[in-house]
Amino acid sequence: MSIPSSFIDQLIDQADIVEVVGRRLQLNKKGSNFWCLCPFHDDSNPSMAVNQDKQFFYCFVCQESGNAIHFLRQYENLDFVDAIETLASSLGLTVPYENGKQDRMKPSGLVEQAVRFYQKNLNDQIAKKAIQYLKDRSITGETAKKFNIGFAEDKWDALSNHLGKDIPVNELEASGLFSHKDNKFYDRFRGRIIFPIRNIKGEFIAMGGRIIDEGEPKYLNSPETAFFNKSNELFGLFEVKEAEKKIASLIVVEGYMDVIGLYQHGIKNAVATLGTAVTPSHVAKIMRYTNKIFFAFDGDLAGGKAAWKAVENTFPIIREDVNIHFVFFEADHDPDSFINEYGLQAFQKLLDESISLSEYFLSKIKDFNLETLEGRAQAAAFAIPVIHKINNAVIKEIYANEVSQLCGMDVKTMHVPKDSYKTNQNANQNPANPVIPVRVKALINIFSALLKHPTLAQEEIFKGLREDVKFTFLFDVIALYQQSPDIKPSRVLESLESSQIQGYFSQAVIAELDLSEENALKLIEDCINVLLKNQKDREQILKDKYNVTSITKVERRDLQKIILNKEEISDDDRDWLKKLSSNQD
Ligand SMILES: [Zn+2]
Repeated sequence: MSIPSSFIDQLIDQADIVEVVGRRLQLNKKGSNFWCLCPFHDDSNPSMAVNQDKQFFYCFVCQESGNAIHFLRQYENLDFVDAIETLASSLGLTVPYENGKQDRMKPSGLVEQAVRFYQKNLNDQIAKKAIQYLKDRSITGETAKKFNIGFAEDKWDALSNHLGKDIPVNELEASGLFSHKDNKFYDRFRGRIIFPIRNIKGEFIAMGGRIIDEGEPKYLNSPETAFFNKSNELFGLFEVKEAEKKIASLIVVEGYMDVIGLYQHGIKNAVATLGTAVTPSHVAKIMRYTNKIFFAFDGDLAGGKAAWKAVENTFPIIREDVNIHFVFFEADHDPDSFINEYGLQAFQKLLDESISLSEYFLSKIKDFNLETLEGRAQAAAFAIPVIHKINNAVIKEIYANEVSQLCGMDVKTMHVPKDSYKTNQNANQNPANPVIPVRVKALINIFSALLKHPTLAQEEIFKGLREDVKFTFLFDVIALYQQSPDIKPSRVLESLESSQIQGYFSQAVIAELDLSEENALKLIEDCINVLLKNQKDREQILKDKYNVTSITKVERRDLQKIILNKEEISDDDRDWLKKLSSNQD
């Protein structure tokens, strides 16, 4: 399934980057831009500009830049589809997926066939024990159907036989449904109750299996595949979304049996992580669909750890409009066992009495002995790195003030260990005062000129660069401006594949060069000459390399191309061409 580009256009048109960034970071208007502390590098002065007219952001230090979609991708660590989902849901739009060409991320359909096969098994004699297990857990047939629960027989080839022999090996392998040994494929799931896992679009992408008899492991999940990334998926989210258009709240639990057990008792808004702790992308995903979240982890030690992990992964993207609560169980209970034993009302009471994120965080501080100086110092040392994960300035201030009061010291001014400062893996490592190479500058200037005077996108000026595949992207941009001179910059950005080129384009957008048409044309010509001269230097470098040592195949082809692209080919050039083609290995 793919997303129609018309919808992406619509999104970019309707979304306001100031609102997207402003919901997450504190923006202040200065001049024609809004400014904030850049979340992508260790920033102490606001160096990120957000421009409403251009619908762009740009950091003057680390040079991270782009449109609203790019901001979300970087800030919340999302892939493209997830970023589109986030933006769409914030605007109240539903993403219209269309069946298009098969992409890498799309499940092949084998998983769905397997789900149907296992589901059919559940009605069979062979599934007697499985049915008993579900009955013991008071799971009705209706609930089993809702979650497409199935049963895999304890056989090595039940699914393989069912699917038949004609399926290509790579498809079998890619599905994650089989393990293989000595070139033979075996059913991965055997003797297990099957819990199918769907993505947000409702496609079956993986499954979890609970063993029926004794055996290890008790729970087995599909391995990660091209379309199943467990740190990104939540069991049950599709089912909640299907039933509730605007999700009032979500309860995050640890296992699929918790989701199903709660559902059975009337709590129909639980989702589960899949054998991992809550990750930042989980939190981002949940916050996309609701602004009230309950984390309800098991009452054991691992559950406590999971809750703290959730705090750490929530802090970087926490917003003022999101309410986060924690529910804790007695040591021998999890959500499923609790609701089975005490019922719906008792569970609802737990939700009502749940503690907020800030209460939970501060309770951790109060665990230190705050009566002593040492205890207060330890508490501050514990709190500071966590507080510095918060990007939202208002919330950060509130937490810092609270902790300062508890510890009797101003934690805002205290040193933070460098490692814990980073909140984004994509952050630029060495952003200070970048030296911009001349050819990059030339490119940025060409973009600037085109942005100011789109009608200059006539190919004749650029034809010197035409034959060079390195500049294909430039001609793509030129083509866009030829087709629609008033195309929005953020749309052009969307068409650029390389993030590096996107960065250059963004710099041009933010630079807003004020040029007359005449000067813009002159600038383009100068810059093309710079790029061509660069090419000349490349020719000389390759020739020197050829003479002194040897050149690679790619370099050889490059050099041939440079020479062939010249308007006039000299005798010397001819000699070189001969040398290059005769001397091939
Ligand atoms: Zn930055």
